[in-house]
Amino acid sequence: PLVLGIETSCDETGVGIVRGTTLLADAVASSVEEHARFGGVVPEVASRAHLEAMVPTIQRACDTAGIALADVDAIAVTHGPGLAGALLVGVASAKALALSLGRPLYGVNHLASHVAVDQLEHGPLPEPCLALLVSGGHSSLLRVTDITGGEGPGLGVDPMGATIDDAAGEAFDKVARLLGLPFPGGPHIDRVAREGDQVAIDFPRGLSSRRDLERHRFDFSFSGLKTAVARWVEARERTGEPVPVADVAASFQEAVCDVLVRKALDAASSEGIEDLMIGGGVAANSRLRALAEERAAKLGIRVRVPRPGLCTDNGAMVAALGAEMVARGRTPSSLDLPADSSLPVTDVLAR
Ligand code: ATP
Ligand code: MG
Ligand code: FE
Repeated sequence: PLVLGIETSCDETGVGIVRGTTLLADAVASSVEEHARFGGVVPEVASRAHLEAMVPTIQRACDTAGIALADVDAIAVTHGPGLAGALLVGVASAKALALSLGRPLYGVNHLASHVAVDQLEHGPLPEPCLALLVSGGHSSLLRVTDITGGEGPGLGVDPMGATIDDAAGEAFDKVARLLGLPFPGGPHIDRVAREGDQVAIDFPRGLSSRRDLERHRFDFSFSGLKTAVARWVEARERTGEPVPVADVAASFQEAVCDVLVRKALDAASSEGIEDLMIGGGVAANSRLRALAEERAAKLGIRVRVPRPGLCTDNGAMVAALGAEMVARGRTPSSLDLPADSSLPVTDVLAR
């Protein structure tokens, strides 16, 4: 099936077109530059930017794919979680398309889409697989037995653990700000860290003590790490010594990636799962990808990570999950589809 997917949960207006698991177009317009001077995404600014970008981005996706809108078999859209006003623009646009074209509408979960997108690169997702979802607003370990949400008992997307405070991407963004790097900070830390020494500073690994592991074996915590970096930088500034930005970035990045990879592999091993998928914006991180590959290989676990451009928000991921809904014969969503800013990851497809 030819599926068009629309993504507007944050500051990217994404329109993707897929045929089954083949990617035909992935058009993204971002309002990130309008938010940069505020150091974070301003919801009202994002909503307005989505309104302005929606029609041209749909047009651009169709042109790239070499199709007409009338060729599309189904429309998929992110209906949560995310910024309420931003989600509404995508949901309203998708409903208008579905209604005018007379095609089924699938309201899908943004987080599950971050996992499903890998199908466009590496083919059908093995089930079960373990997904490490690391993004700007979420960090969780998911046991995936049916990426469409599943219809039988025990089938679907089940959280094994999650962050108890900041998301991994949020930690990257906050530490970048502290180091005077631009927003969003993740890619800048990644770049700067290449010049640094990852063992220069021994930053804390959250929820890794024996006692914490008893209650939080598969959970994450990054706010203590962020505070530790802030204290370390402040102490340096007090003495008037220059802050070795590259070493701080590399050591911070190592602390995050070490914990993420260790817990993800522990979760996979404990479930007897041999495939680890890593998705979400932070999956674009070069150190996370390398460390996961290196440690998984020793355990005989296979790693799947989409290319960086498919890790951050885009429309192709929504189209990919929508295509899977069609392929598995799932019942389309109602045209009453609401936006749900706090949609849980377990709700993969809206009724
Ligand atoms: P969510 O998916 O939880 O709703 P989101 O959609 O805002 O959040 P994504 O687009 O999935 O977030 O990811 C954005 C995050 O990824 C930002 O925090 C950004 O700094 C981070 N990020 C992007 N590239 C990298 C990188 N190379 N290294 C580390 N972090 C990165
Ligand atoms: Mg973004
Ligand atoms: Fe996202």
